[in-house]
Amino acid sequence: PYSLGPNVSDYDARRAAWLAAHPRFPALVAPERPRVLVVTGSSPRRCKDPEGDHVLLRAFKNKADYCRVHGFDIFYSNAVLDAEMNGFWTKLPLLRALMVAHPEVELLWWVDSDVLFTDMLFEPPWGKYARHNLLLHGWDDAVYGAKNWLGTNAGSFVIRNCQWSLDLLDAWARMGPRGPVRDRYGRVFAAALSNRAAYEADDQSALVYLLVTERGRWGGKVFLESSYLLHGFWEGIVDRYEEMRSKGRPGLGDDRWPLVTHFVGCKPCGEQSASYGAVRCRQGMERALNFADDQILGLYGFQHESLNTTAVRRVRNDTGRPLDADDEQIGRLLHPEFRAA
Ligand code: UDP
Ligand code: MN
Repeated sequence: PYSLGPNVSDYDARRAAWLAAHPRFPALVAPERPRVLVVTGSSPRRCKDPEGDHVLLRAFKNKADYCRVHGFDIFYSNAVLDAEMNGFWTKLPLLRALMVAHPEVELLWWVDSDVLFTDMLFEPPWGKYARHNLLLHGWDDAVYGAKNWLGTNAGSFVIRNCQWSLDLLDAWARMGPRGPVRDRYGRVFAAALSNRAAYEADDQSALVYLLVTERGRWGGKVFLESSYLLHGFWEGIVDRYEEMRSKGRPGLGDDRWPLVTHFVGCKPCGEQSASYGAVRCRQGMERALNFADDQILGLYGFQHESLNTTAVRRVRNDTGRPLDADDEQIGRLLHPEFRAA
């Protein structure tokens, strides 16, 4: 069967030996603070929609902002590393390559290009997942009970750098080679999962299929999180940002101030017309980008005139005296105590 690469065994011991030999690159950068690498990417080709590449640039700026504030490293891929694993499957060979090349990285956080960080302050409570290897948004009932392929989302997930994860990536990727295998698994998923038609296998359905059919093998190390929005479906979010600003505050990460707004079904690069109106998608993205950017611009005394425009105005006359003390929220983002080394 298809494989992502040579079989790796004894990885955990080999990684531990590397870490012991390289004390300057610890996998834990502080107590309870694993070294996190955010991984994202987009197609090697330019976008068809003339605005697409500009949207991708702004979406990447959004991720760079979030990572800087939290001290995470970021990797952007523009290459399909394995022609068999094209399209949404390309994250799998990429994660494997990064994992084995960076033993110092403890957690890799995959985010789709259409994932936007909309809570600049919130950070996942890493300690909660110390005994797990894969973290996704979702619900046990929806995945294991209803076998619903929408019970989780593969557009934003965190995976630990370890043997278990290499094995998972291998088992997962076996359903992805383009052509007959991908087509056949599409039909398998349609039969095994709820609400899923027989189109070609996607990575999200494949993961749900793996969890449903081999729960004993994988389930114990998978955390399906719903107490905050590691993935938040954009439709119910993008009209509420003004309301969130009047009632909520950054740092909540949940429905009151979503960590992530994910533009599922929107195709920012414009390969095909969206299942949602292209205009609604585009306006929603504009609002999410500006909502997020305001949390950064505010640190420097600027804000967007509204969430619907790129124009900004000065909201504070900084005098050169350190501001940290004035506003606790600003101070926490400018000089975050939670930031990795
Ligand atoms: N992707 C990539 N290279 C490609 C195609 C996709 O890096 O050639 C990434 C990109 O980040 C995208 C994600 O894979 O957001 C998921 O792919 P999908 O086609 O599902 O895109 P979405 O609709 O989520 O944007
Ligand atoms: Mn997506």
